[in-house]
Amino acid sequence: MKMKEKLEKEKMGNTIPAQNRIIAWPRMGRIDIPLKALLVSLGAKVVIPPPNSNEALEIGVRNSIEGICLPYKLNLANYIMALDKGANTLMMFQAPGSCRLGNYTKMAQKTLKQMGYEFDMVIFDMYKSKMKQTLQAFWHVTRCINPWRYYKGFSLGFNKFFAIDTAERLLFYTRPREIHKGDAEKCYNKWLQIVDETNSVWKAKQLKKQIIKDFKQIPIDKNKDVPIVYLIGEFFVLLDPYTNQNIEKELGDMGVEVQRQIMFGDWLEHVLKPSIFYRKESHRERSVRYAEKYMKRAIGGECIETIGDTVYAAKHGVDGIIHISPFSCMPEIVAQNILPKVSKEEDIPVMSLVLDEQTGKAGYITRIEAFIDLVKRNKLRKK
Ligand code: SF4
Repeated sequence: MKMKEKLEKEKMGNTIPAQNRIIAWPRMGRIDIPLKALLVSLGAKVVIPPPNSNEALEIGVRNSIEGICLPYKLNLANYIMALDKGANTLMMFQAPGSCRLGNYTKMAQKTLKQMGYEFDMVIFDMYKSKMKQTLQAFWHVTRCINPWRYYKGFSLGFNKFFAIDTAERLLFYTRPREIHKGDAEKCYNKWLQIVDETNSVWKAKQLKKQIIKDFKQIPIDKNKDVPIVYLIGEFFVLLDPYTNQNIEKELGDMGVEVQRQIMFGDWLEHVLKPSIFYRKESHRERSVRYAEKYMKRAIGGECIETIGDTVYAAKHGVDGIIHISPFSCMPEIVAQNILPKVSKEEDIPVMSLVLDEQTGKAGYITRIEAFIDLVKRNKLRKK
């Protein structure tokens, strides 16, 4: 077999017959809900690893080299836990650029093989994979050739992604303003379950509207003076509530409206949609435009988004920025070093939080509380 074909086969994970495949992928935000819907529509069996936890972190840390970034450790733990539950095909999302994400797949593959696991790994190169390559990768794991199933799977998947994004945005808006504590959280959890259980394309298309309608029923104090804080930084820690210690909830409970700058559905739409159908300015494009004064090009990870979002926030009346990143994340270290200058020149308070397995909750919350006091005082000063 030619070398190129061999590599392609290895990349697509071709050694297990499609009917025997049990597919798993790493936890990241609520990606499990739409991806499960898509794969099950294509006839696949799936295993979802348990949510990230101290146990998962301990497994990841034990089997990784010390200096590797936190998301890798948790991804590896997700794979191990999924393989232990019977998975035999692992999906991995990979992106190029000057960060370690490009090496994750090979490293995880090698470690898991050394641990004695038998599996195939299928790689989705997100910045190369437009719709055609993505369909190809799904065909390789499921061998599904029925176009209706693809239509159903992708419609369900995308509508679920957008429904979850909508529910999250409304949760962030409602939580600091709700009259009865816990209403927004309850509504959000209820809809997550409904989104997960929805199996008809027609119903999935209605989800977004129904979620908006339901959140509007929650009594809120519309006149409350609520500071707005942008949550920016590295993709994984922004989306994983275990890693970021549920920062969105903590801020909401402190009476702050969070606006997370990376939403899964938005990001996926930009990455997967052919450019002729993607008419709006993407988050990346907006970031490049706003970061121009401080950074001339993207250097990997979400570095340019971090800078661009901060400038954008300052120009759009946002009250403060919380920048979160995993310990030793190269792109975010660069961003962290540029941020003080951006904060000073654009006149917006910025706090950077670096997270790792040693981060203690009490100190973390104290820092956030102190920063929110500063944001409130700054808001008053500007008034
Ligand atoms: S962006 Fe940072 S944390 Fe994420 S993979 Fe790259 S180096 Fe690691």
